[in-house]
Amino acid sequence: MVKVPLLVHGSDIKLTGEYSNNWGILVRLFTTVAALRCYLSLCRSDQRAEGAEGAELRQAIGLVPTMGALHAGHLSLIQRARQENATVIVSIFVNPLQFGPTEDYQHYPRLLDQDRQLCEQAGVDAIFAPNVQELGVTSPLTQVVPPDAMTSVLCGRTRPGHFQGVATIVTKLLNLVQPERAYFGQKDAQQLAIIRRVVADLNLPVEIVGCPTVRVASGLALSSRNQYLSVEQKEQAAVIYRSLQAALQAFQAGEDRGTALIAASKAELMMVSCLQIEYVELVHPTTLVPLEKVEETGMLAIAARLGSTRLIDNIILRTRQPIVAIDGPAGAGKSTVARQVAQALGLLYLDTGAMYRALTWLVLQLGIPLDDKCAIAELASHCQIQLAASADQQNSQRVWINDREVTHAIRTLEVTSQVSAIAAQPAVRQALVLQQQSWGQKGGLVAEGRDIGTHVFPDAELKIFLTASVKERARRRQLDFQHQGQVDVSLDQLERDITERDWKDSTRNVAPLQKAADAIEIQTDGLSVAQVTAAIVKCYHKRLSKH
Ligand code: AMP
Repeated sequence: MVKVPLLVHGSDIKLTGEYSNNWGILVRLFTTVAALRCYLSLCRSDQRAEGAEGAELRQAIGLVPTMGALHAGHLSLIQRARQENATVIVSIFVNPLQFGPTEDYQHYPRLLDQDRQLCEQAGVDAIFAPNVQELGVTSPLTQVVPPDAMTSVLCGRTRPGHFQGVATIVTKLLNLVQPERAYFGQKDAQQLAIIRRVVADLNLPVEIVGCPTVRVASGLALSSRNQYLSVEQKEQAAVIYRSLQAALQAFQAGEDRGTALIAASKAELMMVSCLQIEYVELVHPTTLVPLEKVEETGMLAIAARLGSTRLIDNIILRTRQPIVAIDGPAGAGKSTVARQVAQALGLLYLDTGAMYRALTWLVLQLGIPLDDKCAIAELASHCQIQLAASADQQNSQRVWINDREVTHAIRTLEVTSQVSAIAAQPAVRQALVLQQQSWGQKGGLVAEGRDIGTHVFPDAELKIFLTASVKERARRRQLDFQHQGQVDVSLDQLERDITERDWKDSTRNVAPLQKAADAIEIQTDGLSVAQVTAAIVKCYHKRLSKH
């Protein structure tokens, strides 16, 4: 058992990860494309058989691309992939294309035995560790060339060809494994932005999941290259984190100009005279375009050398209003509580349910058969939904779809009875999540849903995981039924239904229920809605006073 103390700054949580293989099977190690393909096709056919009765059940494959020498940063990606996928593949490949002629390709740490052990303890299903010939990295080679504006800035200035090399190998790995999700660290923010762009530009069918930077207690971001540092250098290197914090403090005090933020960071960096600064820059985190000031969001990125070791780190600065994301199992009272919290904090309640209802209304209105998923996907991709707080705060929100107000029309029995069939369609979810995220750019909202804090708003300032025992949820549901004058269902039956629903919700392929690592759990057994609301409002003020 390897114990890895993890510290994820920014979200303010400490995790002590004990990675154990609960699967009781040894991690498979493949070094050839043929064996990997064989394994994947077996996984997919097994999953097809298992998922036959409910296509929604989780069948996904998650890929974590690495260059090996695994540390707790890599393990956090693996842990996240483990939570969200049926099969987790870790690739280990020291990619020659991303090293310059004077860089450390030959000396880069190669620790396959140790990596294999760590993967096993982390419950990885298979490692793919091909050599250069096996992966077909020959010369000449077809390469993926991301936009120059993204590869020639920041690290690209001193590492020409590096990101093209990364993009080429990551694209190869994505094509080979064809995962539903692939996991990358925010520490390598330029790499993450470029991969997102490549995936979008080439229409690769994969979700790229960015994961927070894992640090040691001093704040130094974990990196395989930290092995090159002496104990003293590791202490000195922590100045990089301190300098990001100095810029953050200036930002929080109202400074939004790039020059001033960069100066605040450099002033701190200069405290360690042997550190050579390569760059300190403010860019947009998605496009990497240099910014004169932080409008909605900016990324302050640093590269510096200690001796011959090159270190990078970054911090995201946001001016947007906060987002409160409330996840939790069905029946824990998410939507009632979210409405009340929004009202108490003067934020907008983002009624995601109303969005699915609005689309359902449109589908019914246009007479599209519910099983014509392609036509519904087409409609979902084009539709425009607007939400606005109604003047009467007691009332639900006003809702428009394609400029037509449907506030009342979406509450009919017909819409209610069909909405779950529409919401279960992956293309619908994808389209509506994109709309939710675009509202999220401005912030100032409270949203609830099964995966709102883990998937839709992973950067939410406050994440709440609202839960209640199965017994309590069954009791609440029985009361609801009684109020609605519906037939009495026994508590035993309701408890069985809820347990089954919990299992399905947490193993869904689309939007599985997970508790985010940085969520605050509130157990609501015996608490009134007002008490839960008050508890969340308190968490909000406490969390925001730290930001
Ligand atoms: P590498 O092995 O350096 O290519 O890294 C493999 C993946 O792990 C990349 O997506 C990195 O961004 C990620 N990673 C490396 N260090 C950390 C860290 N300290 N925290 C989170 N992710 C990391």
